[in-house]
Amino acid sequence: MIKENLNTIKKQLPKHVTLVAVSKTKPITDIKEAYDAGQRIFGENKIQEMVTKYDELPKDIEWHMIGHLQRNKVKYMAHFVDLIHGVDSFKTLKEINKQAKKHNRIIKCLLQARIAKEETKFGLSFEEIEMILSDSELQNLENVSVVGLMGMATFTDNKTQVSQEFDTLKQLFSKEKNKKNLSILSMGMSGDYQLAIDSGSNMIRIGSSIFGARNYFV
Ligand SMILES: *Cc1c(COP(=O)(O)O)cnc(C)c1O
Repeated sequence: MIKENLNTIKKQLPKHVTLVAVSKTKPITDIKEAYDAGQRIFGENKIQEMVTKYDELPKDIEWHMIGHLQRNKVKYMAHFVDLIHGVDSFKTLKEINKQAKKHNRIIKCLLQARIAKEETKFGLSFEEIEMILSDSELQNLENVSVVGLMGMATFTDNKTQVSQEFDTLKQLFSKEKNKKNLSILSMGMSGDYQLAIDSGSNMIRIGSSIFGARNYFV
């Protein structure tokens, strides 16, 4: 089914939208199936789990960290992670920079914005994002590259609300992108990616619509 699901989703996607297959909690065999169907970008939300999968799978996979970051674990993925979606502080950027430097790499990062009304979602306010982007110290972090923004909408059936939340982040992105050289706007999951694309997302993170429902408690 994984291959069919992938093909169904990919057929609907405009060319400018990148698909991140979110494989968290799923076994290697599932990822291999998606890989054999041509998928090369995978997203995980736990560093340890991503490291284990990286070690076992082909090295042309691009690994994206999409979960909340524990700063003390950044070092475990610094040698291979391609894009970190969930950066929510300058301190974390500094830690990523420090670890990337040890491997002589530049790690791409997205700043996670808090757009949902829910209390539980991590992320920065728009003011905080603007402050980080215009912080002169950012230039000194030579081993990180802030390439865009990420956001998660409220988990609700209210499409108007979800679209509004995506629209506000798109507005911030449009405002900052030329000044700060941002290219990636990561918004949209299985339940809301169409709305996200309509609002201007160019990177979607899809898990359950590709791999099926997850059985786990968070
Ligand atoms: C789990 C997760 C996804 C994928 O969720 P689905 O609803 O299964 O598509 C996307 N983004 C983040 C940050 C996630 O944690």
